[in-house]
Amino acid sequence: MIPAATSPATLRVARVLTATEAEGPGLRMAIWVQGCTIRCPGCFNPQLWASAGGSDVSVADWSPAILADAVAAGVEGITLLGGEPFEQAAALAIVAAGARARGLSVMTFTGYDYADLRDWARHRPDIADLLTHTDLLADGPYRADLVDRERPWIGSTNQGLRALTDRYRDLEFTTVPDRVEVRVGADGTIAVNGWGDVDALDALLHDLGRRADQPRSTYLRLPNSTSASAASTPAPK
Ligand code: SF4
Repeated sequence: MIPAATSPATLRVARVLTATEAEGPGLRMAIWVQGCTIRCPGCFNPQLWASAGGSDVSVADWSPAILADAVAAGVEGITLLGGEPFEQAAALAIVAAGARARGLSVMTFTGYDYADLRDWARHRPDIADLLTHTDLLADGPYRADLVDRERPWIGSTNQGLRALTDRYRDLEFTTVPDRVEVRVGADGTIAVNGWGDVDALDALLHDLGRRADQPRSTYLRLPNSTSASAASTPAPK
């Protein structure tokens, strides 16, 4: 079903990583938006389904500031993921256009099929604009029964990985490895993003355990991210 149109003035953001090598080609700023009505079984980010989470930001104020951070960090592009970017298409089209105007590439993840998006774009300028300002599109719902072990970044074989402009037309997807990134904050919090198979994640977590003096506490705390156990299931965003 076609997503409802939303305001271009406000964006509900869940998380921003200024520079990551795990969410698309090269070094990128990753922007997770809050809210997704598609709700694929096995989704990697169910905490991003509810539209009530995250923070509302003014696109007019936030977009230039966040894109200045991206340029200062030396990234080659931004990645829009979620949550569902096309359920906030009008606001994200402005962010994406701003990125392109600064020479940055745009990769967008969506649980909608590209064929449907193109069809809807004929009478929905917000969807058309976000497609226009996307260089690389990962599309389609995650299917837990069709796990993709060949291509990077995406979760299942039914999903598309499409160069919509020349920028990534020649990218050899099969030569790009999946990555898992772990960040430890000054306060001891740990955040994880990226993609890894079960063996890689088991190896990553092998030496971690629960403190004996805090038997009911959770040893790993992953703010705005996934739990350690959920991380063993790959998914598209
Ligand atoms: S995998 Fe993506 S499209 Fe599917 S429910 Fe999760 S956030 Fe939504």
